[in-house]
Amino acid sequence: MSDNEHLFQDAIRRLDRALQHANIDPEAVERLKFPKQVLQVSIPVRMDDGSLRIFTGYRVRHDDTLGPTKGGIRYHPGVHLSEVQALAFWMTCKCAVAGLPFGGGKGGVIVDPKELSRMELERLTRAFVAQIADFIGPETDVPAPDVYTNAMIMGWMMDEYSKIHRVHSPSVITGKPVPLGGSLGREDATGRGAYLCVKELERRRGWQPAEVRVAVQGFGNAGQHVARLLHADGYRIVAVSDSRGGIFKPEGFDIPSLIRGKHETRQLRAMYCAGSVCEIVDAASISNQELLELDVDLLIPAALENQITGENAGRIQAPVIIEVANGPITGDADEVLNRKGTLVVPDILANAGGVTVSYFEWVQNRAGYSWTLDEVRERLREIMSRQFGVVHDLMQEKQIDMRTAAYSVALNRLGAAISSLGTGRFFAGADTERT
Ligand code: GLU
Repeated sequence: MSDNEHLFQDAIRRLDRALQHANIDPEAVERLKFPKQVLQVSIPVRMDDGSLRIFTGYRVRHDDTLGPTKGGIRYHPGVHLSEVQALAFWMTCKCAVAGLPFGGGKGGVIVDPKELSRMELERLTRAFVAQIADFIGPETDVPAPDVYTNAMIMGWMMDEYSKIHRVHSPSVITGKPVPLGGSLGREDATGRGAYLCVKELERRRGWQPAEVRVAVQGFGNAGQHVARLLHADGYRIVAVSDSRGGIFKPEGFDIPSLIRGKHETRQLRAMYCAGSVCEIVDAASISNQELLELDVDLLIPAALENQITGENAGRIQAPVIIEVANGPITGDADEVLNRKGTLVVPDILANAGGVTVSYFEWVQNRAGYSWTLDEVRERLREIMSRQFGVVHDLMQEKQIDMRTAAYSVALNRLGAAISSLGTGRFFAGADTERT
C-alpha cells in the first residue's frame, strides 16, 4: 500500500497514452488532471470504553462534466488522499465508458472497521456524514459502497443525511438496503458486470467454460459473485484468496460452499485449517502473491490496487486478466503485460457493473418507482455488452491495448462534453463556425 502516495499521478499518466487515439482537445485533458474539489475532515467518535478517537476522512469530486459526481466510500487503514483522488479519477472514466450521466467522486476513512464494534461503526458513519453533508447531495455527489463498506452502512448514511437536511433523500446514496430504497440486483452488480465481460470474451473467442481455469484474488462482494456466476456456468475456479491468504485446487472448487464457509467463519483460511471445516475443503494453502502467478487461463484480481507491479508482472502466466478491483495493475506492469500480449480487460470497463446498477437505483429513487430484478439484470446486460463491444472494436481497429481503448472511449465522451462549452480554439477564434 506504500505506493498509494503516488497513485493519482500514476493514474493520470494513462490519459496521455490514450490522448493519441482520442478525439479530445488537449485543454480538456488538462482539466482532468486536477480534481475539482477535495474535502478532508476530522471525525471525532466516542468509543464504547468512553474514550474519544479522531478519525480522518476524505471526499473527492474529480469531474462533474457529465453529471453529479458518483463513487463509493471505503473504510480501510491504508486510505490515502492520493489514492482517493485516483479512485475518483477512475470513476470519472468509468462512468464515461459506461455512458452514464455521472462524473467521478470517491471517499474514504482511515480506519480498520474490523477493530470497531457495530455501535462504534454506526457512530463513525453518522459522524462522517455530518462532516460531508454539505458536500454530497442527490444532484451534486452521490456516494455508494466500496471496500469494507456495505448496504447497512449506506442505510445509516442515507438516514443521517435525511435527518440533517430534514428531507427524505434516498437518492443521495446508492447501494442501500432494498427496504430503504436500494435497487434489486445492486448487491452482485459489480461481479455480474465482470461476468458479462467474460461472457463477451467467451463468445468472441469460442471458449469452453470447463476448460478455462480461473484464479480469483479477493473474496469480498465483487470476487465472490464473479466466482459464483462463472462457476455456475461451468468455469473451473482453481484458486481463491482473501486478505489472509488463499487456497488452490487444480480440479476446481465448489464456490457456493466456499461462500457459505466464508460467511460462517469470515475467512477463507479457516476453510482448510479450522477444525471440522478442514475436512470439507481439501486444498493447498497459497499466498496472495502465489495466486497471481499461477498457471491459469483467466486471472481476476478483485481485491485492492497495486497488486501486479513492475516487480511481479514478468511472472504472471495468465493470458487474460479481468480487473475487478480498481487499479490492481500499475502503469509499469501494464507495459510488461502489453509486451507479453496479455489481454487486460481494464477496471474502468470490467467493474462498471456496480456503478451502472447504482445509476439504476438513483433513477428509481428519483422516479419513486422500482424495477423488477429481471429488468435490472437485462438493462445491465445490455449496457455491459454494448460498451464492451465499443471498447473491443476500438482496440482491434487501432491495434492498441484494451485499457488504452477504454480510456480513448472515455476521453471521446468527456471531450465532446467539455468542448461543447468552448475551448481555447473557440475563444481564440480558431473555430470558423460562429453564431
Ligand atoms: N465502489 C464501486 C466502484 O468502484 C461502486 C461505485 C458506485 O456505485 O457509485 O465502482
